[in-house]
Amino acid sequence: MSTARAVPPEATAALQADVTGDVFVPGDPGYDQARQAWMLTADQRPAIVVEAASAADVTAAVRFGHSHGLRIAPQGSGHGAAPLEPLDSALLLRTSRLRGVRIDPDTRTARAEAGALWQDVAVPAADHGLAALAGTAKDVGVTGYTLGGGLSWLARRYGLAANSVTAAEMITADGQLVRTDPEHEPDLFWALRGGGGGVGVVTALEMQLYPVPELYAGVLFFPIQRAAEVLSFWREWTTTVPDELTSIGRILRIPPLPTVPEQLRGRAFVMVEAAYAGDEKTGADLIAPLRNLAPEIDTFATIPAPALSQLHMDPPEPVPAVGDGALLADFPAAAADALAGQVGADADTALISVEVRHLGGALHRPETDGGTLPSVDASYALYGTGVAATPEAVTTAGGQAHALKDALAPWHASYGFYNLADTPASVDAPAARDLPAPPADQNQPRPEQCDHLRASCLSSG
Ligand SMILES: Cc1cc2nc3c(=O)[nH]c(=O)nc-3n(C[C@H](O)[C@H](O)[C@H](O)COP(=O)(O)OP(=O)(O)OC[C@H]3O[C@@H](n4cnc5c(N)ncnc54)[C@H](O)[C@@H]3O)c2cc1C
Repeated sequence: MSTARAVPPEATAALQADVTGDVFVPGDPGYDQARQAWMLTADQRPAIVVEAASAADVTAAVRFGHSHGLRIAPQGSGHGAAPLEPLDSALLLRTSRLRGVRIDPDTRTARAEAGALWQDVAVPAADHGLAALAGTAKDVGVTGYTLGGGLSWLARRYGLAANSVTAAEMITADGQLVRTDPEHEPDLFWALRGGGGGVGVVTALEMQLYPVPELYAGVLFFPIQRAAEVLSFWREWTTTVPDELTSIGRILRIPPLPTVPEQLRGRAFVMVEAAYAGDEKTGADLIAPLRNLAPEIDTFATIPAPALSQLHMDPPEPVPAVGDGALLADFPAAAADALAGQVGADADTALISVEVRHLGGALHRPETDGGTLPSVDASYALYGTGVAATPEAVTTAGGQAHALKDALAPWHASYGFYNLADTPASVDAPAARDLPAPPADQNQPRPEQCDHLRASCLSSG
């Protein structure tokens, strides 16, 4: 554990006088609560924490950090806190109080302040029959998820969430509030979308919404002993489905908690989760081949778009977890066998959830006006995670997550993805190793070429 750098008390007091939010340094009552991320394994010990209550607070915090030589580490929910360390010379800029959301049904857009969670957008959007490209969990932050790319249940139909951003308001490293969109600061606009956010602190995002009021969605549960069979059948089936259907093949070990329904408690399953943005009859026809495998439990039904947040059964509260993931070029039967060997019925594993998401569809087609990730040239995404409440458990589950990733190395795509990364990724090594060049006529920099943005590469230290 590193020791946080001391910030002079008079400087801290001046900053507190300057902001309407709160400022904490080590030793202050409230410091421990303010530094706590959703991801409980992250023991963040920054030099100073600012809980911003307005965009003006964000500006003041960025200017303060700049003048005191502190790295600025923006954070909303803290779901993605694992790769953020070390923070001992950092100002942790919490945006979690900034949760204002405005829906414009006429333009089918949403404006979400930097600390908004997906439930803050998905629920009011649904009042207008609209859906956002939200993550599987309702409490994941809109900003971090979107800047990292954003794989939603509608990803194969509408692409990455990052490429549905229509404008961003942000504070650059020199403390200027700028609005970026295709016409204004297009270089920043390009770098933000999919680049992970290292070029400034976002105070609000505007994004496209889509006319998807309902979906045919659910989960098929099979005994874990059928892991390799079900996963390889699922993979073949994914090659037959339209872009309106996004699915996940998964192995889940459900903890024996009293809050879990008895039918599921303490059991292990191989599962297929799927969401079809269309009518029930077509959805049922599409799911039929999987149903013919005789699942033990079948939850498919027509659901309102915000209920998608329950499909993946993400933890409802903060958890201590470790994980690892990779994009996969393919997931053939040999890969399903390799996965089952690591986490199937006979495996002694601490990984409670291992999932393979089907990509392709709109994710494959380059967005001409997209950001740093105009397309995802991989067909599946792997992610495995385990609950790890002690340092020993972190070592065990973390090691097993890495081993799982290594076991599927023959099928890895040639680049990674921020939202699957639980280890630090610099702005010089963003999601795609082979970054597509930005449109030449806009003179936009690639992150690894962005020397003139260096000053605003906030997370590069
Ligand atoms: C339970 C769970 C479910 C998930 N489901 C999905 C999913 O379905 N699809 C998917 O794609 N990903 C998913 N993820 C991954 C998730 O998208 C990333 O962890 C993401 O970074 C979380 O964003 P956040 O804002 O909630 O987290 P934070 O930890 O608050 O932010 C993550 C990072 O985003 C950047 N950032 C945050 N706010 C700002 C800001 N205002 N300005 C500039 N940069 C900022 C910072 O680099 C920060 O470290 C999931 C993660 C978890 C734990």
